Amino acid sequence: MDFSIPPELVEIRRRIAEFMEEFVYPNEGRVVEDEGLDPALERELQEEVKARGLWAANVPREWGGMGLGFVGQGLVNEIIGRSTIAPRIFGSAAPDAGNVELLHLSATNAQKEKYLKPLAAGLVRSCFAMTEPEVSGADPTGLRTRAVREGDEWVINGHKWFTSGALGAEFAIVMAVTSPDAPPHKRASMILVPAATRGFEIVRNVPVMGSGSVGGHCEVRFEDCRVPFENLLGEEGKGFELAQARLGPGRIQHCMRWLGAAQRSFEMMCRYALKRESFGEPLARKQTVQSWIADSAAEINAARLMTLHAAWKMDRGEDARVEISLIKFYGARVLHDVVDRAIQVHGALGYSKDTPLESFYRDARAARIYDGPDEVHRMVVARRILREFEE
Ligand SMILES: Cc1cc2nc3c(=O)[nH]c(=O)nc-3n(C[C@H](O)[C@H](O)[C@H](O)COP(=O)(O)OP(=O)(O)OC[C@H]3O[C@@H](n4cnc5c(N)ncnc54)[C@H](O)[C@@H]3O)c2cc1C
Repeated sequence: MDFSIPPELVEIRRRIAEFMEEFVYPNEGRVVEDEGLDPALERELQEEVKARGLWAANVPREWGGMGLGFVGQGLVNEIIGRSTIAPRIFGSAAPDAGNVELLHLSATNAQKEKYLKPLAAGLVRSCFAMTEPEVSGADPTGLRTRAVREGDEWVINGHKWFTSGALGAEFAIVMAVTSPDAPPHKRASMILVPAATRGFEIVRNVPVMGSGSVGGHCEVRFEDCRVPFENLLGEEGKGFELAQARLGPGRIQHCMRWLGAAQRSFEMMCRYALKRESFGEPLARKQTVQSWIADSAAEINAARLMTLHAAWKMDRGEDARVEISLIKFYGARVLHDVVDRAIQVHGALGYSKDTPLESFYRDARAARIYDGPDEVHRMVVARRILREFEE
């Protein structure tokens, strides 16, 4: 067992941390709620990241990224995750990062040229439309959006919501039922839908508790939305297989970013506890605060090792389904609890918008729901463990 970080990654992390200090933290105050940074400023920072060779850790080199493995991605995302604006600046934000991986995995050469190339370069944005308001997103086998083949076209009809990033996206990857009579996991396929297609209608940007991501979390309607048959992504009926392939790495990237937010909150808690005095001594002398610091240190360390372990298994091509589910619910809990303690130590300041803690806190609540709620990941883990005992 070797826990040391390879020298080349030490150097990449140092350069990312340097960029964060110089360009990211100083610009956090310029974020507009639900809109993010001014697009011109964001573009300028993205170009600087590219010039320094730090663009898109998860994107293969042939498509202009850093092409790091999952452990490498983990080690850089825990720095990038320290700021809510950094993932977009470094080309590793959801949902585009997951869509790049999905296209790289399953797109035809023509689709790669048309959709993957500009997306990987950060020239356009995309969205992923699976969840529907009428049926359980935790059990997407019940999806109702239909895609029917007519001649050499797909005709899509359906209703989605929480399609993150849909406002301003160039295209959507849409999960639709193509074979209604097939077994549950073979009913759906993924289809590429350019946002300019007639019948692709953004009903509204759903207002949410969180700090709001660029492009919103939209309700979308498909009404006789026609796209060419060749817009099918991967094979017909393989939608759920592809969704698993997309969500595995996607979840691990979320967990890595959460570590960054948790670690920054932890550092803020320690610094503030040392300088703020109450009842004649710094807060750091109170046993309750010391317990919060010790518990947070233990939990962050555990979540970090669990995340890197899942990443390590994925780099080796091993099945990491259980490990990913473990960190999805455990990491979300750690993020929430550490930010919560940091807010408590900061008192009213923690509740204000003068620090990043309040937006971390609002975003942390969603972490227990998106990409599968906690309960479903616990179910996956328990079922797998129990099956082994049964066998
Ligand atoms: C910020 C955010 C961004 C999102 N972005 C996207 C996106 O880009 N694209 C997209 O397609 N979707 C997106 N989603 C949707 C997300 O993936 C779904 O919300 C999630 O899968 C849960 O589905 P649901 O909301 O329909 O909840 P439901 O499936 O209705 O579940 C409701 C609750 O029931 C409980 N529950 C469900 N199943 C079980 C079980 N087996 N055991 C015990 N309890 C259970 C859980 O507590 C769960 O929270 C996003 C959601 C959020 C919050």
